[in-house]
Amino acid sequence: MISRQMQAMLGQNSVIRAMFEEGERLRAEYGSDKVYDFSLGNPNVPAPPRVEQAMREVIDEEPSVMVHGYMNNAGFPDVRKELALTVSWQAEERYRADQFIMTTGAAAALNILLKTVLNPGDEVLSFKPYFSEYKNYVENYGGVLKLVATDPETFLPDLDALRAAIGEKTRALILNSPNNPSGVIYSEELLRGIQAVLAEKEREFGNCILVISDEPYRELVYDGAKVPWVPKIMPHAAVVYSYSKTLSLPGERIGWLLLPDSIPESRDIYRAAVIANRISGFVNAPSYMQRVLKRAHLFHSDFSVYARNRALLLKELPAMGYHLVKPEGAFYLLLKAPNGDDAAFAAKLKEERILTVPCTSFACPGYVRLAYCVAETTVQNALQGFRNVAGYYREQGLL
Ligand code: PLP
Repeated sequence: MISRQMQAMLGQNSVIRAMFEEGERLRAEYGSDKVYDFSLGNPNVPAPPRVEQAMREVIDEEPSVMVHGYMNNAGFPDVRKELALTVSWQAEERYRADQFIMTTGAAAALNILLKTVLNPGDEVLSFKPYFSEYKNYVENYGGVLKLVATDPETFLPDLDALRAAIGEKTRALILNSPNNPSGVIYSEELLRGIQAVLAEKEREFGNCILVISDEPYRELVYDGAKVPWVPKIMPHAAVVYSYSKTLSLPGERIGWLLLPDSIPESRDIYRAAVIANRISGFVNAPSYMQRVLKRAHLFHSDFSVYARNRALLLKELPAMGYHLVKPEGAFYLLLKAPNGDDAAFAAKLKEERILTVPCTSFACPGYVRLAYCVAETTVQNALQGFRNVAGYYREQGLL
């Protein structure tokens, strides 16, 4: 009864899911304030008050049949127009409403774009470490995800490895900056380097390599870090955006896909992606949230909790002897396993009721991921546990 693809999925136990279930067990046993759960990228700061105000305004002021009805599968034209104006202003480019497709979050945007461009056997590249759902999304359409090496210390892309990975089957490259799980941001110079390799390979193979810039963490940056606008540097780049993290609305499932004109065949890709949105069963992005966004998209959640958590972890963990990769954005941090065994390190932390994700699942063995989108007290109260585990490794001469 069950398809081969889904049979295979049943066989794979999601590490994040397993950690979540372990968290439930520990919370039931010790109480939730004694469990320090850094396993999930679920924002813990509320949506900005403007979002809830906009929700009320939409209900009070807009016609119900319109708010809750079907619309063009690309989304409400007036909402897309408003977003096109904002993005044009922010990116200092000129975009139109008919280049945007409203989507059921970034996940749907990625899926409909991959459905639009992939034939079975086509290859999609992404850099390590990566958001592990990419593999599932690519395989949904018969594609093959190939992971490209990054510098082992900085997790920044290795251009020679990229050059070597591109072949005639390469159809797309998914970029994710600020990155989940490393928190690194790709600089303009680095993006120019990637673009030079892509252009060289496009000439060699006579095809277009579509860049898919997945940016759900675009505004979530620290210390004034800048996230370059990818299509300015890469003419064949589409942008995927989501309000899951910036407006703390992951369950509401709202985001967009932007297809700039500089992508070859962009109009046909756009029309096909709108059809893919429909026939994938999304039909259109949630109508109510589109109406809300028109009023509230210029706001974002209060990121100061994440900034304080990050500052505390960056101060305390290295002082205990741990090695970490300093994140510039998102709300994740990679912490090196003292003996290189991420599963054993995560298990040791779990003895202190600290839940993390071993990064083998993100193609980054030897590290665990901390999602610090948690209450400040969770970070403060977890520090003693981190200290105890550091002491354990130090006794063994591993730290
Ligand atoms: N891309 C990355 C890198 C993510 O981290 C996530 C969610 O965590 C997504 C895409 C999916 O986001 P959405 O909730 O908008 O579907």
